[in-house]
Amino acid sequence: MTAMRRFQAYIDGAFVDGEARFASLDPSTGEPWAEMPEAREADVDRAVRAADRALREGEWPKLNATQRGKLLYRLADLVAAKAQDLAELETRDTGKIIRETSAQIAYVADYYRYYAGLADKIEGAVLPIDKPDMEVWTRREPIGVVAAIVPWNSQLFLAAVKIGPALAAGCTLVVKASEDGPAPLLAFARLVHEAGFPAGVVNVVTGFGPACGSSLTRHPLVAHVAFTGGPETARHVVRASAENLASTSLELGGKSPFVVFADADLESAANAQVAAIFAATGQSCVAGSRLLVEQSVKDRFLAILKEKAERVAIGAPLDMATEVGPLCTARQRDHIQRLVDRSADAGARIVTGGRTPEGPGNYYPPTILDCDGADAPGLKEEFFGPVLSVVSFETEAVAVALANDTAFGLASGVFTTNLAKAHRMVRAIRAGIVWVNTYRAVSPIAPFGGTKLSGHGREGGLAAALDYTRTKTVWLRTSDDPIPDPFVMR
Ligand code: NDP
Repeated sequence: MTAMRRFQAYIDGAFVDGEARFASLDPSTGEPWAEMPEAREADVDRAVRAADRALREGEWPKLNATQRGKLLYRLADLVAAKAQDLAELETRDTGKIIRETSAQIAYVADYYRYYAGLADKIEGAVLPIDKPDMEVWTRREPIGVVAAIVPWNSQLFLAAVKIGPALAAGCTLVVKASEDGPAPLLAFARLVHEAGFPAGVVNVVTGFGPACGSSLTRHPLVAHVAFTGGPETARHVVRASAENLASTSLELGGKSPFVVFADADLESAANAQVAAIFAATGQSCVAGSRLLVEQSVKDRFLAILKEKAERVAIGAPLDMATEVGPLCTARQRDHIQRLVDRSADAGARIVTGGRTPEGPGNYYPPTILDCDGADAPGLKEEFFGPVLSVVSFETEAVAVALANDTAFGLASGVFTTNLAKAHRMVRAIRAGIVWVNTYRAVSPIAPFGGTKLSGHGREGGLAAALDYTRTKTVWLRTSDDPIPDPFVMR
């Protein structure tokens, strides 16, 4: 038996063991493979205090924005250089396939580059004030200590969209990795250290939601919580942050519609649908998990999809040939099976998949549920797995109504060759992202986020960096005359 790998937390510039330890399971075998440091309230408190000190004292607040940007460029280069190692760790610890983690983590470096470049472009403004003898301007100052909380899927990516803009703005952070698959973020902390960020600027801990996550979100020194996860946890986060009125940005789940009109290029749309629901084994917040297809092409489109779903290579996540690997946890696989069963009980027809396979590992096959005529719970609730629910429509108005018939509002896809129809759909769909004739494209330059139960706030783009700043307004009187009547507001 090979020895268990041991990981450490990163607090105040030092690598430390947590108050306790827990085992991380390999999703492809269900066996423990590494020991993780478990942070509880005392570790979290040390990390937040370190971040608070680093914000106010020492080297970090003395750096100018260009110098902060240079540190971020260094971090980006280190992430790029270590991308393959980080990808293997993420694959090992979360089961996300190596084909995806290798490409995604190489791209994570570009997120740090983007925010490195933005650091010295965050500007205040001189205001054309409506009073005589006054100069008035705004400064953009760091919002304070940021708690960044991420779920298991794409931890390095989801952390980068928080760490990059927060550091560009001059904030300090405590990052909480998920208890499921924290290895890549704990390894990333070593690159932060190597890049030369002063102690306490970035702290990385992991631990369980109630003890670690909630002591972080309710900590009085935390000014902003940047959270990615499910809506139920988000409610806990908002309640905890109400203690000291910290601001929040919430990137939550989705039940995103994928709308295929009869005039679409069906082969291309089917490939995009495969990417939308089976890539990352469906563990993607933007998963296009509700296929809305025009009735006249439904049978043809479902036949193409079924054929593609059944040809997907299911296998070991570290194998480059694998297209669908195991789910991150057995808990997640069991949740998916229960929701498939409830949907089938409600009348959904299983087109393909739908059964947990025998054998080790958290595998679940690509699954398609035809929900026409069924009030299937899978049409409303997030599977967070490789399960597609299908409904047909006959008119554009019904397609819009179905697309918006969800408590979520993160992403959506529209497939049509009719330009006017595409524009009408873009306007009508209530979601933070609309992809037209494509799906699952992301970039550091493009804002990302949702509405309704998918949360609020945007990650990516210039505005995300501004969200980590507070505006300070400065009034400077330019007159040498004594201040007149003090009882009149001027
Ligand atoms: P959870 O909401 O369960 O967990 C997210 C993070 O919150 C984890 O680090 C978790 O820790 C932590 N946490 C748990 N309880 C608390 C608490 N009381 N206070 C503070 N933090 C806590 O999400 P899942 O792990 O289930 O992740 C899947 C969800 O994330 C899906 O809904 C998915 O759609 C969404 N998501 C959204 C994205 C977006 O950008 N919009 C992107 C990716 C995923 P622990 O793991 O230790 O429990």
